[in-house]
Amino acid sequence: MASHIVGYPRMGPKRELKFALESFWDGKSSADDLKKVSAELRASIWKQQADAGIKYIPSNTFSYYDQVLDATATLGAVPPRYGWNGGEIGFDTYFSMARGNASVPAMEMTKWFDTNYHFIVPELGPDVNFTYSSHKAVAEYKEAKELGIDTIPVLIGPVSYLLLSKPVKGVEKSFSLLSLLPKVLAIYKEVVADLKIAGASWIQFDEPTLVLDLESHKLQAFTDAYSELASTLSGFNVLIETYFADIPAEAYKTLTSLSGVTAYGFDLVRGTKTLDLIKGGFPSGKYLFAGVVDGRNIWANDLAASIGTLQALEGIVGKDKLVVSTSCSLFHTAVDLVNETKLDNEIKSWLAFAAQKVVEVNALAKALSGNKDEAFFSANAAALASRKSSPRVTNEAVQKAATALKGSDHRRATNVSARLNAQQNKLNLPILPTTTIGSFPQTVELRRVRREYKANKISEEEYVKAITEEIRKVVELQEELDIDVLVHGEPERNDMVEYFGEQLSGFAFTVNGWVQSYGSRCVKPPIIYGDVSRPKAMTVFWSSKAQSLTKRPMKGMLTGPVTILNWSFVRNDQPRSETCYQIALAIKDEVEDLEKAGITVIQIDEAALREGLPLRKSEHADYLDWSVHSFRITNVGVQDTTQIHTHMCYSNFNDIIHSIIDMDADVITIENSRSDEKLLSVFREGVKYGAGIGPGVYDIHSPRIPSTEEIADRINKMLAVLEKNILWVNPDCGLKTRKYTEVKPALTNVVAAAKLIRKEL
Ligand code: GLN
Ligand code: ZN
Repeated sequence: MASHIVGYPRMGPKRELKFALESFWDGKSSADDLKKVSAELRASIWKQQADAGIKYIPSNTFSYYDQVLDATATLGAVPPRYGWNGGEIGFDTYFSMARGNASVPAMEMTKWFDTNYHFIVPELGPDVNFTYSSHKAVAEYKEAKELGIDTIPVLIGPVSYLLLSKPVKGVEKSFSLLSLLPKVLAIYKEVVADLKIAGASWIQFDEPTLVLDLESHKLQAFTDAYSELASTLSGFNVLIETYFADIPAEAYKTLTSLSGVTAYGFDLVRGTKTLDLIKGGFPSGKYLFAGVVDGRNIWANDLAASIGTLQALEGIVGKDKLVVSTSCSLFHTAVDLVNETKLDNEIKSWLAFAAQKVVEVNALAKALSGNKDEAFFSANAAALASRKSSPRVTNEAVQKAATALKGSDHRRATNVSARLNAQQNKLNLPILPTTTIGSFPQTVELRRVRREYKANKISEEEYVKAITEEIRKVVELQEELDIDVLVHGEPERNDMVEYFGEQLSGFAFTVNGWVQSYGSRCVKPPIIYGDVSRPKAMTVFWSSKAQSLTKRPMKGMLTGPVTILNWSFVRNDQPRSETCYQIALAIKDEVEDLEKAGITVIQIDEAALREGLPLRKSEHADYLDWSVHSFRITNVGVQDTTQIHTHMCYSNFNDIIHSIIDMDADVITIENSRSDEKLLSVFREGVKYGAGIGPGVYDIHSPRIPSTEEIADRINKMLAVLEKNILWVNPDCGLKTRKYTEVKPALTNVVAAAKLIRKEL
């Protein structure tokens, strides 16, 4: 029985690639330094997999920035604005596309399916002139071979590449990306020919778009593409890898009928129904790469259960055609548990990061060939049993309370317009009230204070004093700017999820559990391992302190349950919805404590609600139902006069606008300015919105300071589609990553613009 890894994290166990990249970008080290660190990382990853006994070890899964951008480079599909003149694409052109340069902004970035990874979106038009311009795939294959390791080169499949692209500006309506298929395939043929000369015998095409709801002409493109490639691919074993969800029945039929293909890879963790499709029929003589080890999570595999699944599959495809694999690339999980010095042994025994998952895959393969490592399997069974029975996992009161929520509605009794009236009587805000999203710039000094407090280097008293001072500064600034609804600036928070996770029961934190988000950026999601509860108030101390410093309303600032869920590694021993309900109850307690402490405006951020949307449309309704319900639970207990805000930093809402309305918040602030006001089009098309709404008036992601006129112009555009008495004026998102030298003038102009328009109304 053979084993395979779909892909592996490239950042390194201690984010070595991140530091090498950033140092290179800052001009502190040379291109050769960067190449050296990268080659070492690749070598250690390949060796580690070889040592573990993995048969099919992937290559070309390393990237200096993004694997889709690598494919763009391979195809030479560089947008003309980067001034590339042909030839092998070097760091200059590559990083300009990724990050922009002094004169040209970066290419657009978007989320990779439903993960927290972002890829660089290819921009293609009818005139693009494809040429084979990056030989990275074959170079990596040869590099591994020189180390004595024969790898399986991984390429993004040609059809997925096109389906993930966007048409260049101006041809959006008239141009079909798939019409480029023949041209793209010509380059793929060159790459494949190169790999053949280099001695590769297997090749992996990642075609994850096959799990989406694709129209039939898109499925047809797969048939066309692989029959066109078939002769070039002859002599190779060709694996088409899919992942992230169940594969639809139609797509399964298309996939298993592709010519020239000899192996199929499936995500059997998220794709439970895929198993039924396989049982219903699998082409004889073909390989099945069974993704039973979860690449999206950090839990140890249930090896006994996996053996059961694999044995059933063995009966269908035959022993010599079954390959044990991961559900998707491991680069969506943390790298190596070995570097976790702060987790206790019990929790550690429940976990497997990428390095451990490689070992699991191999242990499964060995066990199936009659070579079971009994000690490894019994340790795994013991760990699973301890996780199941640990009192740290189960809190019966919480379980009961969360279960009781299912099936009920939870809605504030009074409707939103009546509530807004009651709130306005109390708050007495001007028309077009101004506010910000929560965080203010986080200075080096502030980060130092937090770090030193955490490390017990400064006393609690000193810490409270420093943070209070920071809040006072932020409050004074907002009063000076004449903002209407204030925030405390979130100086005590490192991260909007971690801050709450650290105070809730049921969460654990890693020191090196980084996952790549984009480029050199990584996130370190908390681990939700047990029933969630709130031992004591989390934000009341700072919010009350902040409120005591001003007569203006001070927003309480919380992260919502869906966002906490979506930005964490979530337990896999109960449905996500159940965990979400538990978090909702904890946040509900906090909301009510804030209200009791005299906070009359409370913002519950749901920045990540949209991104949790399942890939398959058939699952949307269920997700939206429990996620929106969870949000409502948090604030169902407050009085009419308490104003509940929410915030979302993603503007692509048009498809879920009715769910957003169903959240029943009093005010929502939404990112808007980066997306050509896509958001407003939904109101233009007639969707009625009665709650307060603040579409962002300027982009906080850029250091650029918007002028008063420009902001006023934006507000006017909003007024054309939204009633004046529900409109709020605010930036797109929090100001944490900005400098005060940017924030002060920008907010000055925001307030000036609001005042200007108020006069005209
Ligand atoms: N309140 C948070 C802040 O202002 C919201 C951040 C976010 O939406 N990502 O930083
Ligand atoms: Zn935001």
